[in-house]
Amino acid sequence: MDLLENVLRQTEKNGVAIGHFNIADLVLLKAVFASAQELKVPVLVGASEGEREFMGVRQVAALVRSLREEFDFPIFLNADHTHSLEKALEAAKSGFDAIVFDASALPFEENVRQTKEAVEAVKSINPAILVEGEIGDIGTGSEIHEEAPDLAKGLTTPAQAKQYVESTGIDILAPAVGNMHGMLQSMVQGETKKRLDIVRISQIKSAARVPLTLHGGSGTDDEDLRKAIAAGINIVHMNTELRIAWRRGLEEGLRKQPHEVVPYKILPCAVESVKQITRSRLRLFNNDR
Ligand SMILES: [Zn+2]
Repeated sequence: MDLLENVLRQTEKNGVAIGHFNIADLVLLKAVFASAQELKVPVLVGASEGEREFMGVRQVAALVRSLREEFDFPIFLNADHTHSLEKALEAAKSGFDAIVFDASALPFEENVRQTKEAVEAVKSINPAILVEGEIGDIGTGSEIHEEAPDLAKGLTTPAQAKQYVESTGIDILAPAVGNMHGMLQSMVQGETKKRLDIVRISQIKSAARVPLTLHGGSGTDDEDLRKAIAAGINIVHMNTELRIAWRRGLEEGLRKQPHEVVPYKILPCAVESVKQITRSRLRLFNNDR
């Protein structure tokens, strides 16, 4: 089975991006895996600190590994937004393929110092684990926000990106290029879309020369996502759109069978609802496959 690093290189060569979908339970994992399997494209499953705490760090690693092995399929696991060295090491020891070390809320110099330390510590456990670092401000919380945060001042510059990559040794960079965690109510309604700074992505890519991740992809304009991938984005994160679909699917399952108590008769509705999102997003990330 290929390592994530090789899959990442291959997708870059093909001009496509890997879809990264957060999971918090088996419904989400089943939907993500079934979509990737149907489209025959590699996929990255993400679990943030909160999601890991709910599922169990070693337990989510065992689930994803079991799918990869049983089906000989390129499904990988990322420790999303990890804020401490301790949690990064826990994920590394549990068999995660990648770790997002997020010290982006700290001043630049301190972010560099902590990220460099995390890269070295993680690689000493397993050099094949990819470490992603983050600079700039893209807000927090993959949920529905009342107001848009002012992120204009926190956009990543190409010079910063270059300096950050060179001084930390990270494998992957997550820049702030107009993206934002979570969605506004108007985005949930489909009235507004997130727009990306495509020129900035190209400039950051030429300066940083590493794979780039777009966080907070939910609610982004489709054409901007295509252009962002063409400009150098290699991984696209989606969480809030899946969470909304999960809730709607669950509600539908309960409404359709008001007296049912058997979980495996109710939950397929939620799996199908999430699958519609993951399938359409994976298609878009993979050249409308
Ligand atoms: Zn994120």
